[in-house]
Amino acid sequence: MSLTPQEVWTRLLERARHDLPAEAYESWLAPAVPVSYSGETLSVSVPDQFAAEWNERNYTDLLQGFGPVALGNRVRVVFQADPERAGRPQMDFFSPPPSTTAAAPPQRTSFVARREGNEAGFQPLGPRYTFSEFVVGQSNELAAAAALAVSQQPGRAYNPLFIYGGTGLGKTHLMQAIGHAALERVPESRVVYVGIEQFTNEFIQSVQNKGMTAFKRRYRELDVLLVDDIQFLKGKESTQEEFFHTFNTLYEAGRQVVLTSDRPPSEIPRLEARLVSRFQSGMVADVGQPDYEHRLAILHQKSRRDHLEQTFPDDVLQLIAERVVSNVRELEGCIIKLLAYASLKHRDITVEVALEGLRDRLSSDAGGPGGGVGALSIPTVQRLVASEWQVTPEALMSKSRLKAYTVPRQVAMYLVRSLMGTPLMQIGEAFGGRDHSTVIHSLERVEAQVRLDSEFAARVQRVENRLLQQ
Ligand code: ADP
Ligand code: MG
Repeated sequence: MSLTPQEVWTRLLERARHDLPAEAYESWLAPAVPVSYSGETLSVSVPDQFAAEWNERNYTDLLQGFGPVALGNRVRVVFQADPERAGRPQMDFFSPPPSTTAAAPPQRTSFVARREGNEAGFQPLGPRYTFSEFVVGQSNELAAAAALAVSQQPGRAYNPLFIYGGTGLGKTHLMQAIGHAALERVPESRVVYVGIEQFTNEFIQSVQNKGMTAFKRRYRELDVLLVDDIQFLKGKESTQEEFFHTFNTLYEAGRQVVLTSDRPPSEIPRLEARLVSRFQSGMVADVGQPDYEHRLAILHQKSRRDHLEQTFPDDVLQLIAERVVSNVRELEGCIIKLLAYASLKHRDITVEVALEGLRDRLSSDAGGPGGGVGALSIPTVQRLVASEWQVTPEALMSKSRLKAYTVPRQVAMYLVRSLMGTPLMQIGEAFGGRDHSTVIHSLERVEAQVRLDSEFAARVQRVENRLLQQ
């Protein structure tokens, strides 16, 4: 009894429809057409390569996650561009300008690149994450200045450099810019960029495979070590231990270490005191939310970079800068989404089209409640919910299934979702690495409980009100 591609797609869509803003659903998933289903892989055709990549990036995980419940088995969803349906002129914008690759950093000589071709498995630096593409404003000038200084004198200016701030505010960009600039100055520098997750995984594997010597060499014989998202190091004792040694070895040899995190060292839960004090011993700089002028400058820079000056009139950029206050990734997302929307609708980009196409992203008034919500963060929600339920915020991220923890954990997920619209996967990650079906389950539990239990509903409402006043 095998299902047709259409049946499989319909079942997945039914669920996705509940989970996505109507606008996103209509623009992206509704136009897609299922073409084949192998019992395992569902191929879905979309009008162009851009839509294929967009859907893959944003919706594949969500759709695949529905497999077990909707189909009774796992499913892989693959989006492919259908050349028959493409050919619209606007789509030219989506092919990256050839200059991007030409202008890529001098990877030919970098340690990162030299190792890239072989089994070393280091992630190369993103070609666009350079200082010249980073727009400096009040919210990030200290971090940017420190980063620049570090890139000119690795190991000597500030060591370590610790950059922290909310998501999408340019931490990874700045950190990688240091790598690019250091390589430009001294092309044979050994620069490595690694996420703390990868570092942790490699460490665990090397312990299991008795590959510690190689692991140590890999991370200790470097000029610049860039470690991203250090907040995920929390609570992993043996990895913390190893990281401490790696850090000390580099530090004592005068090598540069750069770290990023979503919060300052002292606020990372369960981080050993000696690591906290090491992290604080150099320069700690934060990146904050850009103000209106800064947001507009960033939008102008992106539009120039992608040769979109003719496509995006100034008043549209101003509208986006006024209404999208949360972070820079959101700003970029608006440009991409609006390009795609106008293209699908065969219309030029105007304020009217922007208001329509970005309905789900534009807050009604940046100064009013919409703007306030834009400024919310997951840690804030966790903190306030935890305090209402009188547990620690860490309990919300823990694996514990004690009811005293699961209830506030579910409420916090629910509030993150309803106030911030954060994707399920991201919520799962922020709550101790849970998968997105757990998140869906949590949201459903809270919704049901709110309907049944007015005292509970009032409690949730109370926290929500407090959050809205943040
Ligand atoms: P984070 O690591 O803080 O979550 P990223 O560094 O990934 O954020 O930044 C998100 C996106 O926003 C990236 O594409 C980055 O290039 C862009 N971005 C962030 N800050 C700036 C800035 N000041 N100027 C230009 N682009 C920026
Ligand atoms: Mg980052």
